[in-house]
Amino acid sequence: MLDKIDKVIKDVIKGKIVIIVDDELAESGGVFFMASELATKENTNYMMKYGTGFTYISLPEEKTETITLSQTNHFSKQSISDTYDLSVDYINAGTGITAEDRTLTIKKILEEQMNYNNFKTPGHVFIMKSANGGVLKKAGNAEAASDLASISGYYPSGVISEILNEDGEVANAEQIFQFALKENIKVVTIETIISYRREKDCYVFQEAEANLPTEYGEFRMVGFVNKLNGEHHVALVHGTIDVNDEVLVRVHSECLTGDAFHSLKCDCGEQLAAALMNIEKEGKGVLLYLRQEGRGIGLINKIKAYKLQEQGMDTEEANIALGFPADMRDYGIGAQILSELNIRKIRLMTNNPKKIIGLKGHGIEIIERVPLIMDTNIYNKRYFETKKEKMGHLY
Ligand SMILES: [Zn+2]
Repeated sequence: MLDKIDKVIKDVIKGKIVIIVDDELAESGGVFFMASELATKENTNYMMKYGTGFTYISLPEEKTETITLSQTNHFSKQSISDTYDLSVDYINAGTGITAEDRTLTIKKILEEQMNYNNFKTPGHVFIMKSANGGVLKKAGNAEAASDLASISGYYPSGVISEILNEDGEVANAEQIFQFALKENIKVVTIETIISYRREKDCYVFQEAEANLPTEYGEFRMVGFVNKLNGEHHVALVHGTIDVNDEVLVRVHSECLTGDAFHSLKCDCGEQLAAALMNIEKEGKGVLLYLRQEGRGIGLINKIKAYKLQEQGMDTEEANIALGFPADMRDYGIGAQILSELNIRKIRLMTNNPKKIIGLKGHGIEIIERVPLIMDTNIYNKRYFETKKEKMGHLY
């Protein structure tokens, strides 16, 4: 029922109307959408006919200010909701009510030199402020509309209208999909727009850097911050890396119990050690340490999952019982960090074919998949070396 985002974007570029829904169940209905830049009298009319009759335009925060500034002064700030702003008509748009007048108002709103002096309120085009950061910040209709216009190559503004069913009620998911099929209109979820943007837009940045001597050799430790949620991740870089190098890379998800405590419930600690040793042996390479404990569910939930496992569940069942997908690890972050480190070609150390698929499509080419063979001797060797060192201290 849902369409692939590239097909949706193609239709947006053609000037066709598409439908945005919250998710596949679309309890709260859906909206018609067109890029504001491509608004036509015909499409505006179509939306008025099959929608609520209200025409909304999503605008970036600064643009909303420009268009509504003086008008808002006439109202108490409380009367203007966070998202919905005023309704306006272009001052020379006649009565403002017809599809033609509304389209003119839309076009005029987009013009750079236009400001609040060029519009009157109340009018027939309702302004919806879309939050800076778009759907990555807020999964609302205004943000989805601005982002869909933007990723299609247009000014971040969309014209939207809620969809009604034949009885004049807000259309539910089934009715929307039936209607879309009949009218040959593409349907996209806000969720899809979010994941598209998450993949395309860089939201990690390098924040700190220092040398880190380890028992596996010398590394440069580079700290990254996820702008969206403040998470910290780290890359351990060994040797000098050129953009054309086929870099040996390990993407390791944080596992406190395995990495630090050498828990026997998993082999994460051994994998980490083996990866660092391989990188050292190779002479250059990168270990990405993604701090997404317990496959993204967090430490406390991981402990809870362990408790469920004690009661007989396997990892996957335990995560599902806690209400989490079986594996929430987000490798988009890893791809972004590699990209920031100027790495384009990688030889990925992994035993999981899924990870390779997950990393594709981020501008990172996977040249080779290097199985991470865990030699228990490696683990033991390190263990004994450490022990020897410690004993050396003792004696
Ligand atoms: Zn582990």
